Amino acid sequence: MAYVVTEACIKCKYMDCVEVCPVDCFYEGETMVVINPNECIDCGVCEPECPAEAILPDTEGGLEKWMELNATYSAQWPNITIKGETPDDADSHKGEDGKFDKYFSANPGKGS
Ligand code: SF4
Ligand code: SF4
Repeated sequence: MAYVVTEACIKCKYMDCVEVCPVDCFYEGETMVVINPNECIDCGVCEPECPAEAILPDTEGGLEKWMELNATYSAQWPNITIKGETPDDADSHKGEDGKFDKYFSANPGKGS
């Protein structure tokens, strides 16, 4: 089992999650972060840290798309362990629907 980052993260990137992970298994894309399911030790520490409630345990149903996306992109994007600057428009996208279709980018982020 692992934790999974879902659509609510897109365009938010508050990054409160990345600093608390004891095994540094977050990876940064241009518009969201993902968790490497092979490295996540299932401690659950990150889940309550996310103000967008984007992190869920993979035991919840219906997360197949996100499990696949986390596995795929955590192998391609750079590792991130230090909280970066939150984009100015992060709050305006909180809770918005359809963010994957509108904003998802396969491009890597900067990492840190
Ligand atoms: S705190 Fe939540 S919204 Fe922010 S980067 Fe982490 S998972 Fe994404
Ligand atoms: S559940 Fe624990 S190990 Fe997994 S991503 Fe969150 S903080 Fe890291």
